[in-house]
Amino acid sequence: MKHMKSCVNCRSTRLYYAFSVNDYRLIECADCDYLGMYPQPTDAALADIYGESYALLSEDESGSEHAGKLKRATAEHYLGLIERY
Ligand SMILES: [Zn+2]
Repeated sequence: MKHMKSCVNCRSTRLYYAFSVNDYRLIECADCDYLGMYPQPTDAALADIYGESYALLSEDESGSEHAGKLKRATAEHYLGLIERY
């Protein structure tokens, strides 16, 4: 059986397998009776959150529209400079 490196609560390495739920193992700490999941679900949850936000950024139409306006404004600015001569 795989052990957690240490208890997230008290840093103890005396961790024991309690039981498993789906893909997660529940680990019990012998020193503080902390009951935790291994692997910890927070990492996967964070990965999902970051994955979704990256997808939103790449598919953000208002963002690309804003970039287009900036390019147009810059082009008009340079055209204005040229017309002065
Ligand atoms: Zn502990």
